Amino acid sequence: MLESVVQDDVTSAMVYCFGAGQAEGSAAMRELLGGKGANLAEMSSLDLPVPPGFTITTDVCAAFFDNNHQYPNELQDQVCAALGQVEGLVGRQFGNPTNPLLVSVRSGSRTSMPGMMDTVLNLGLNDETIEGLVNSSGDERFAYDSYRRFIQIYSDVVLGVSHDFFEAILAEFKDENDYVLDTELTASDWREIIVAYKQRVEAELGHSFPQDVFDQLWGAVGAVFGSWKNTRAKTYRRLHGIPEDWGTAVNIQAMVFGNMGEASATGVAFTRNPSTGNKEFYGEYLINAQGEDVVAGIRTPQPLTKEARVEMGTDRPSMEEAMPIVFKELVEVFNVLETHYRDMQDIEFTVEKGKLWMLQTRSGKRTAKAALKIAVDMVSEKLIAPNDALLRLDPEAFDQLLHPSLDPTAERNVIAKGLPASPGAASGQVVFTADEAESVSVDGTKVILVRTETSPEDIHGMHAAQAILTGRGGMTSHAAVVARGMGRPCVSGAGALHINQEKNLFTVGKVDIKKGDVITVDGTTGEVILGEIPTVQPELSGDFALIMEWADAARCLKVRTNAETPADVKVARDFGAEGVGLCRTEHMFFDTERISTVREMILAEEQEGRIAALEKILPMQRRDFIELFEIMSGFPVTIRLLDPPLHEFLPKTEEGIADVARISGMDPDRVRRRSSQLYEFNPMLGHRGCRLGITYPEIYEMQTRAIVEAVVEVEARTGVKSKPEIMVPLVAIEKELEVLRQLVLNVISHVEEERGCKLDILIGTMIELPRAALQASNIAQYAEFFSFGTNDLTQTVFGISRDDSTQFLGDYVRQGILAEDPFVSLDHTGVGELIKIAIERGRRTRPNIKLGICGEHGGDPKSVEFCHSVGLDYVSCSPYRVPIARLAAAQAVLREQVG
Ligand code: PEP
Ligand code: MG
Repeated sequence: MLESVVQDDVTSAMVYCFGAGQAEGSAAMRELLGGKGANLAEMSSLDLPVPPGFTITTDVCAAFFDNNHQYPNELQDQVCAALGQVEGLVGRQFGNPTNPLLVSVRSGSRTSMPGMMDTVLNLGLNDETIEGLVNSSGDERFAYDSYRRFIQIYSDVVLGVSHDFFEAILAEFKDENDYVLDTELTASDWREIIVAYKQRVEAELGHSFPQDVFDQLWGAVGAVFGSWKNTRAKTYRRLHGIPEDWGTAVNIQAMVFGNMGEASATGVAFTRNPSTGNKEFYGEYLINAQGEDVVAGIRTPQPLTKEARVEMGTDRPSMEEAMPIVFKELVEVFNVLETHYRDMQDIEFTVEKGKLWMLQTRSGKRTAKAALKIAVDMVSEKLIAPNDALLRLDPEAFDQLLHPSLDPTAERNVIAKGLPASPGAASGQVVFTADEAESVSVDGTKVILVRTETSPEDIHGMHAAQAILTGRGGMTSHAAVVARGMGRPCVSGAGALHINQEKNLFTVGKVDIKKGDVITVDGTTGEVILGEIPTVQPELSGDFALIMEWADAARCLKVRTNAETPADVKVARDFGAEGVGLCRTEHMFFDTERISTVREMILAEEQEGRIAALEKILPMQRRDFIELFEIMSGFPVTIRLLDPPLHEFLPKTEEGIADVARISGMDPDRVRRRSSQLYEFNPMLGHRGCRLGITYPEIYEMQTRAIVEAVVEVEARTGVKSKPEIMVPLVAIEKELEVLRQLVLNVISHVEEERGCKLDILIGTMIELPRAALQASNIAQYAEFFSFGTNDLTQTVFGISRDDSTQFLGDYVRQGILAEDPFVSLDHTGVGELIKIAIERGRRTRPNIKLGICGEHGGDPKSVEFCHSVGLDYVSCSPYRVPIARLAAAQAVLREQVG
């Protein structure tokens, strides 16, 4: 029976015990106990076989860092009391030479950070307790192997003596004795190794390996806390947006051994397939192995089920075949856990001499495809409701589903096959190190990171790469787990690859692939293909369509798209866009067919010359709008009048100048002169947006005429009433909009007169300058809608150039000065405040003013949530982000309901 270690003062509890069907903690306490500790407690309460132990809270971690790496005073007593309970439950004593309790010391933060922090196993072994372990286990070889593993791991993690020293000693010993595998070493071999290990520690540190088991324990606790701040954990947190101040808990648990012979094993499993989402037990195990052997990818593990073994074509027995009784018990545990958590679980277990022990359960990481399938399946299994399913999905991860995969009809020169560890496909140049991946990809070059196996130190390179290919490791190896989380395609365990990193090449059969050669990696099939392969668009039916249907039923925000080419507008429409929120007309000006006419217009020094050129552009613009209106068939289409500075259209090189001179029949000197007249020191804040409309009204007149004539023509042709919304960019002063609104109205009424019709066209403005936001009540007199241009608004609120920000914003985020890049995720407190002010003031003048956003933030889930909370009518984003925004908009409503 567990006694409460901290009986009176619950708030000062630093340690929470679990074991023997009871627990002081629960799954709801993950903030305090970390995910692992909270779930160990929960499993224990569910009466699942969990080795007894206790969790030191994340509050202690915070206190440890605040206090210059000192533990709080009361901690020692609480740990000793908890340890006493564990001793009572397992019938062994910590440090006892005849019957020693050994423990594992593991990290566990609120959300899982696989492999990023440290773990120490077999703690409690010393020159005396080893004898006890020899006697109690009856297996001398096992005992000495455990001791040498402990010295190795403890020295590396706690004492800072590199793991490589020990690997070198072991390799040399094996060489001298003609051994190939570790399993060939005898008990007395391990004894010799232990002596050599201890000597090495002493030589490195100037003192011997700690023999006091409590010194060992406190050293390990400090090291696990300390590992919260190691570089790889920090990088992982930065990439996954995990706050620095969460800290980690420490879990101390009685050791169970998967390396006690052929009736022992260790394994990891998912209750459903994390790649496909199929409802099948899925995992790997290793007989006679300990701890991290499965995830480390050192020995290739065996499948859990017979079916998986047959599918893989291996004859090494599955767990179902080799350990049928324990396997059955494991399946029962899977079922209990899935029903209890109502979600797919990722489990670690150990079998010690035929007895099953659960070491961990957590919500399993899965591919976007699997997430979708599991969510939909669980609704049909009545485990969860449709709205729960929506909240389970990560809109960002949808990106994985929305991008093209390899064209199945394309010829493939498959040079190797590995495990399909993370789906999706990508081509790129081969690189062999994480640093190379990062440096080569800086200019946008696509790279494939090829490694024998990856380690947590490689995550920056994995992030920079399009895909990852490894020679070793299983489906749960580091590369596989991390790539799935990042949404990078990954093929792991491609054993046919001989990687020679020094020579910067890998060989498969007779083919040498050198650094810089292009390959394609298909993480869905496990294929490695020579050269680049074309891709095809994804199919978005079935589960995806169902989720979108549920999302559409839940959301309030409309979702439009930022697009101007017919192809993009069509993609967006197919993804469910309910209109165009931003058609950037300048993109139409860059069209190769018309750029020379555009240049002619800009180069004209007089208005007549400009008008003549604009007359040539008019039919082309009209054709563009007709196409958009037809595709959007009755949905609103917001067309922004020309925005960028005119010099952007002019040639930048001598070659370009000569070209324009030739096409336009002008003197090259004149082209040069006009270009330098238009030159600006700071074009972002220069002669652009509505300022162009004020100085060259004929441009906006032509564009308005093209829009209005297109509306008339589409209606005449198809009977569909198009809904254009004419948008004036970069307004700061109400008078700008007053003047330009009148200009637009004049053109509309001219065309109405000419064509004898009456049209209903909204006129509005972008709010993308702070002054416009503050002046919103005045500006709203002339605007039937506002669309927040949060790219420019962020630029002008922060005074940070959107084109130059990448030079330093990365450091701002790394140093925690900014939580996120404000050009990616909306800055709620600065930019967001101005948006709220503009909404409030705009509505004061025009209560029914239509409100939307068309900056890049319109496709960022967190920003979408903000847009919902401030009451916008719609968000507009790039075509591929439309489904992401639809889901994010639904989640915003559901989260609001949950509170
Ligand atoms: C904006 O500024 O947010 C916007 C949508 O316009 P652009 O990106 O074209 O400047
Ligand atoms: Mg803008």
